Amino acid sequence: MGIVIFIGAGPGAADLITLRGAQRLAQADVVLYDALTDPALRQLAPRARWVNVGKRGFCDSTGQETINALLVKHASEFSIVVRLKGGDPSVFGRLEEELEALAQAGIACEVVPGVTAAIAAAAAAQRPLTRRGAGRSVSFATAVTRTGALHATRSADTEVFYMAGKQLAALSRRLLEVGWPADTPASVVSRAGWPDQLHSDHAVGTLDHAAMLHAGRPTVVTVGAGARALTVHVQAQGLDLQTTPDTALKP
Ligand code: SAH
Repeated sequence: MGIVIFIGAGPGAADLITLRGAQRLAQADVVLYDALTDPALRQLAPRARWVNVGKRGFCDSTGQETINALLVKHASEFSIVVRLKGGDPSVFGRLEEELEALAQAGIACEVVPGVTAAIAAAAAAQRPLTRRGAGRSVSFATAVTRTGALHATRSADTEVFYMAGKQLAALSRRLLEVGWPADTPASVVSRAGWPDQLHSDHAVGTLDHAAMLHAGRPTVVTVGAGARALTVHVQAQGLDLQTTPDTALKP
Protein backbone atom coordinates (compact mmCIF):
# COMPACT_ATOMS: atom_id res chain seq x y z
CA MET A 1 0.00 0.00 0.00
CA GLY A 2 1.40 3.43 -0.97
CA ILE A 3 1.20 6.83 0.64
CA VAL A 4 -0.88 9.77 -0.61
CA ILE A 5 0.74 13.19 -0.39
CA PHE A 6 -1.56 16.18 -0.73
CA ILE A 7 0.42 19.09 -2.10
CA GLY A 8 -0.73 22.70 -2.34
CA ALA A 9 0.48 23.95 -5.73
CA GLY A 10 -0.05 27.60 -4.84
CA PRO A 11 -2.21 30.02 -6.83
CA GLY A 12 -1.14 28.80 -10.25
CA ALA A 13 2.28 29.77 -11.53
CA ALA A 14 4.65 26.83 -11.02
CA ASP A 15 7.30 28.81 -9.13
CA LEU A 16 4.89 29.49 -6.26
CA ILE A 17 4.85 25.87 -5.08
CA THR A 18 6.88 25.33 -1.91
CA LEU A 19 10.30 23.70 -2.03
CA ARG A 20 8.93 20.77 -0.03
CA GLY A 21 6.03 20.46 -2.44
CA ALA A 22 8.42 20.38 -5.40
CA GLN A 23 10.64 17.80 -3.70
CA ARG A 24 7.71 15.50 -2.90
CA LEU A 25 6.34 15.96 -6.41
CA ALA A 26 9.67 14.83 -7.85
CA GLN A 27 9.24 11.50 -6.02
CA ALA A 28 5.71 10.84 -7.28
CA ASP A 29 4.77 7.74 -9.27
CA VAL A 30 1.40 9.21 -10.14
CA VAL A 31 -0.08 12.71 -9.79
CA LEU A 32 -3.82 13.30 -9.57
CA TYR A 33 -4.40 16.99 -10.33
CA ASP A 34 -7.16 19.51 -10.98
CA ALA A 35 -7.36 21.52 -14.17
CA LEU A 36 -6.25 24.90 -12.99
CA THR A 37 -2.50 24.68 -12.51
CA ASP A 38 0.49 25.69 -14.64
CA PRO A 39 1.64 23.02 -17.16
CA ALA A 40 5.22 23.87 -16.09
CA LEU A 41 4.50 21.96 -12.85
CA ARG A 42 4.76 18.77 -14.90
CA GLN A 43 8.48 19.36 -15.29
CA LEU A 44 8.78 18.81 -11.53
CA ALA A 45 7.63 15.19 -11.99
CA PRO A 46 8.43 14.30 -15.60
CA ARG A 47 8.40 10.54 -15.08
CA ALA A 48 5.17 10.37 -13.09
CA ARG A 49 1.85 9.46 -14.65
CA TRP A 50 -0.33 12.60 -14.62
CA VAL A 51 -4.06 12.09 -14.26
CA ASN A 52 -6.43 15.06 -14.63
CA VAL A 53 -9.34 14.64 -12.22
CA GLY A 54 -10.56 18.25 -12.46
CA LYS A 55 -13.98 19.23 -13.72
CA ARG A 56 -12.48 20.06 -17.10
CA GLY A 57 -10.47 16.87 -16.99
CA PHE A 58 -10.53 13.52 -18.66
CA CYS A 59 -14.06 12.77 -17.65
CA ASP A 60 -16.32 15.76 -17.38
CA SER A 61 -18.15 14.71 -14.30
CA THR A 62 -15.40 13.47 -11.99
CA GLY A 63 -17.42 13.67 -8.80
CA GLN A 64 -15.90 13.66 -5.34
CA GLU A 65 -16.76 9.97 -4.88
CA THR A 66 -14.90 9.08 -8.07
CA ILE A 67 -11.85 11.08 -7.00
CA ASN A 68 -11.86 9.35 -3.60
CA ALA A 69 -12.04 5.96 -5.30
CA LEU A 70 -9.24 6.90 -7.73
CA LEU A 71 -7.02 7.91 -4.82
CA VAL A 72 -7.57 4.60 -3.05
CA LYS A 73 -7.06 2.63 -6.27
CA HIS A 74 -3.80 4.41 -7.14
CA ALA A 75 -2.49 4.06 -3.60
CA SER A 76 -2.95 0.30 -3.87
CA GLU A 77 -0.94 0.22 -7.11
CA PHE A 78 1.83 2.80 -6.57
CA SER A 79 4.10 3.71 -3.67
CA ILE A 80 3.88 7.52 -3.90
CA VAL A 81 0.64 9.11 -5.06
CA VAL A 82 0.50 12.90 -5.15
CA ARG A 83 -2.81 14.70 -4.99
CA LEU A 84 -1.99 18.16 -6.32
CA LYS A 85 -4.42 20.91 -5.41
CA GLY A 86 -4.58 24.60 -6.26
CA GLY A 87 -3.61 27.06 -3.54
CA ASP A 88 -3.58 25.33 -0.16
CA PRO A 89 -5.27 21.92 0.17
CA SER A 90 -6.92 22.96 3.45
CA VAL A 91 -8.74 25.97 2.03
CA PHE A 92 -11.91 25.20 0.03
CA GLY A 93 -10.18 22.14 -1.41
CA ARG A 94 -12.42 19.20 -0.39
CA LEU A 95 -9.51 17.86 1.63
CA GLU A 96 -11.77 16.54 4.38
CA GLU A 97 -13.58 14.08 2.11
CA GLU A 98 -10.36 12.79 0.57
CA LEU A 99 -8.54 12.38 3.91
CA GLU A 100 -11.53 10.50 5.30
CA ALA A 101 -11.77 8.16 2.33
CA LEU A 102 -8.06 7.34 2.61
CA ALA A 103 -8.23 6.87 6.39
CA GLN A 104 -11.13 4.48 5.91
CA ALA A 105 -9.02 2.46 3.49
CA GLY A 106 -6.10 2.48 5.95
CA ILE A 107 -3.86 4.55 3.66
CA ALA A 108 -1.24 6.89 5.15
CA CYS A 109 -1.30 10.56 4.13
CA GLU A 110 0.78 13.67 4.33
CA VAL A 111 -0.31 17.26 3.65
CA VAL A 112 2.12 19.83 2.26
CA PRO A 113 0.76 23.39 2.54
CA GLY A 114 0.59 25.87 -0.32
CA VAL A 115 0.07 29.60 -0.88
CA THR A 116 -3.66 30.17 -0.77
CA ALA A 117 -5.33 32.65 -3.15
CA ALA A 118 -6.04 35.21 -0.40
CA ILE A 119 -2.36 35.46 0.42
CA ALA A 120 -1.32 35.57 -3.23
CA ALA A 121 -3.87 38.35 -3.82
CA ALA A 122 -2.53 40.40 -0.89
CA ALA A 123 0.94 40.09 -2.39
CA ALA A 124 -0.28 41.02 -5.88
CA ALA A 125 -2.05 44.13 -4.63
CA GLN A 126 0.64 44.90 -2.05
CA ARG A 127 -2.10 45.26 0.56
CA PRO A 128 -1.20 43.64 3.88
CA LEU A 129 -4.15 41.58 5.15
CA THR A 130 -3.52 42.65 8.75
CA ARG A 131 -3.00 46.27 9.77
CA ARG A 132 -1.63 47.47 13.05
CA GLY A 133 -4.52 48.76 15.11
CA ALA A 134 -7.26 48.51 12.49
CA GLY A 135 -6.95 45.01 11.02
CA ARG A 136 -6.44 42.37 13.68
CA SER A 137 -8.47 39.54 12.23
CA VAL A 138 -8.78 37.98 8.78
CA SER A 139 -11.46 35.67 7.52
CA PHE A 140 -11.35 33.40 4.47
CA ALA A 141 -14.90 32.93 3.30
CA THR A 142 -16.60 31.38 0.33
CA ALA A 143 -19.25 33.56 -1.20
CA VAL A 144 -21.10 30.58 -2.63
CA THR A 145 -22.77 28.04 -0.38
CA ARG A 146 -23.26 24.35 -1.11
CA THR A 147 -26.69 25.04 -2.58
CA GLY A 148 -25.30 27.76 -4.85
CA ALA A 149 -26.76 30.61 -2.80
CA LEU A 150 -24.65 33.69 -2.25
CA HIS A 151 -23.51 34.37 1.27
CA ALA A 152 -21.64 37.32 2.76
CA THR A 153 -20.38 37.97 6.25
CA ARG A 154 -18.91 40.64 8.45
CA SER A 155 -17.02 38.52 10.92
CA ALA A 156 -13.51 39.95 10.76
CA ASP A 157 -11.70 43.26 10.14
CA THR A 158 -10.57 41.89 6.78
CA GLU A 159 -12.75 39.45 4.91
CA VAL A 160 -11.50 37.60 1.82
CA PHE A 161 -14.15 36.04 -0.40
CA TYR A 162 -13.31 33.11 -2.66
CA MET A 163 -15.47 31.95 -5.57
CA ALA A 164 -17.31 35.25 -5.93
CA GLY A 165 -15.98 36.37 -9.30
CA LYS A 166 -19.14 35.63 -11.26
CA GLN A 167 -21.49 37.37 -8.85
CA LEU A 168 -19.88 40.63 -7.82
CA ALA A 169 -23.07 42.69 -8.06
CA ALA A 170 -24.92 40.24 -5.82
CA LEU A 171 -21.97 40.10 -3.41
CA SER A 172 -22.04 43.89 -3.17
CA ARG A 173 -25.73 43.82 -2.22
CA ARG A 174 -25.19 41.07 0.37
CA LEU A 175 -22.24 42.90 1.92
CA LEU A 176 -24.38 46.03 2.34
CA GLU A 177 -27.16 43.89 3.88
CA VAL A 178 -24.83 42.45 6.53
CA GLY A 179 -23.71 45.90 7.55
CA TRP A 180 -20.55 46.84 5.64
CA PRO A 181 -20.72 50.59 4.91
CA ALA A 182 -20.95 51.31 1.15
CA ASP A 183 -17.63 53.17 1.11
CA THR A 184 -15.63 50.28 2.71
CA PRO A 185 -12.60 49.52 0.52
CA ALA A 186 -12.87 46.38 -1.60
CA SER A 187 -9.86 45.09 -3.51
CA VAL A 188 -10.40 42.63 -6.36
CA VAL A 189 -7.55 40.46 -7.66
CA SER A 190 -7.73 37.86 -10.40
CA ARG A 191 -5.10 35.30 -11.42
CA ALA A 192 -2.97 36.33 -8.47
CA GLY A 193 0.59 35.10 -8.79
CA TRP A 194 0.47 34.80 -12.60
CA PRO A 195 2.27 37.21 -14.94
CA ASP A 196 -1.13 38.57 -16.06
CA GLN A 197 -2.53 39.10 -12.56
CA LEU A 198 -4.95 42.02 -12.29
CA HIS A 199 -5.89 44.18 -9.35
CA SER A 200 -8.59 46.82 -9.12
CA ASP A 201 -9.82 49.01 -6.27
CA HIS A 202 -13.45 49.56 -5.50
CA ALA A 203 -15.82 50.21 -2.62
CA VAL A 204 -18.34 47.70 -1.27
CA GLY A 205 -21.18 49.68 -2.89
CA THR A 206 -19.55 49.69 -6.35
CA LEU A 207 -18.08 46.20 -6.45
CA ASP A 208 -20.07 45.41 -9.58
CA HIS A 209 -17.70 47.72 -11.52
CA ALA A 210 -15.07 44.98 -11.26
CA ALA A 211 -17.13 42.38 -13.13
CA MET A 212 -16.02 43.12 -16.70
CA LEU A 213 -12.34 43.48 -15.89
CA HIS A 214 -12.01 40.15 -14.09
CA ALA A 215 -14.57 38.16 -16.09
CA GLY A 216 -13.69 34.50 -16.61
CA ARG A 217 -10.65 34.58 -14.30
CA PRO A 218 -10.21 33.08 -10.80
CA THR A 219 -10.87 36.03 -8.50
CA VAL A 220 -10.81 36.88 -4.82
CA VAL A 221 -12.42 39.91 -3.21
CA THR A 222 -10.84 41.43 -0.12
CA VAL A 223 -13.07 43.70 1.94
CA GLY A 224 -12.30 45.94 4.91
CA ALA A 225 -9.04 46.89 6.62
CA GLY A 226 -6.81 44.73 4.42
CA ALA A 227 -8.17 46.28 1.22
CA ARG A 228 -7.25 49.84 2.18
CA ALA A 229 -4.60 51.50 0.02
CA LEU A 230 -1.35 52.47 1.69
CA THR A 231 -0.97 56.22 1.84
CA VAL A 232 1.33 57.13 4.73
CA HIS A 233 4.62 57.44 2.83
CA VAL A 234 3.25 59.30 -0.15
CA GLN A 235 1.35 61.73 2.09
CA ALA A 236 4.54 62.41 4.00
CA GLN A 237 6.08 63.63 0.75
CA GLY A 238 3.05 65.73 -0.08
CA LEU A 239 2.23 63.54 -3.06
CA ASP A 240 -1.02 61.78 -3.67
CA LEU A 241 -0.25 58.45 -5.26
CA GLN A 242 -3.31 56.78 -3.80
CA THR A 243 -5.29 54.84 -6.39
CA THR A 244 -8.71 56.27 -6.91
CA PRO A 245 -11.60 53.86 -6.39
CA ASP A 246 -12.55 51.81 -9.42
CA THR A 247 -9.20 52.09 -11.12
CA ALA A 248 -7.49 49.04 -12.50
CA LEU A 249 -3.80 48.61 -11.88
CA LYS A 250 -1.51 46.17 -13.55
CA PRO A 251 1.10 45.38 -10.92
N1 SAH B 1 -7.55 25.76 -2.43
C1 SAH B 1 -7.60 27.01 -3.19
C2 SAH B 1 -9.00 27.54 -3.35
C3 SAH B 1 -9.90 26.67 -4.20
S1 SAH B 1 -11.48 27.39 -4.45
C4 SAH B 1 -6.69 28.03 -2.49
O1 SAH B 1 -6.22 27.78 -1.39
O2 SAH B 1 -6.45 29.09 -3.08
C5 SAH B 1 -11.26 28.21 -5.99
C6 SAH B 1 -11.30 29.73 -5.79
O3 SAH B 1 -10.03 30.20 -5.34
C7 SAH B 1 -11.57 30.52 -7.06
O4 SAH B 1 -12.96 30.62 -7.32
C8 SAH B 1 -11.00 31.88 -6.71
O5 SAH B 1 -11.89 32.59 -5.87
C9 SAH B 1 -9.80 31.49 -5.86
N2 SAH B 1 -8.55 31.46 -6.64
C10 SAH B 1 -7.82 30.37 -6.96
N3 SAH B 1 -6.69 30.73 -7.62
C11 SAH B 1 -6.71 32.08 -7.70
C12 SAH B 1 -5.80 33.06 -8.23
N4 SAH B 1 -4.66 32.70 -8.82
N5 SAH B 1 -6.15 34.37 -8.13
C13 SAH B 1 -7.29 34.75 -7.53
N6 SAH B 1 -8.17 33.86 -6.99
C14 SAH B 1 -7.88 32.57 -7.07
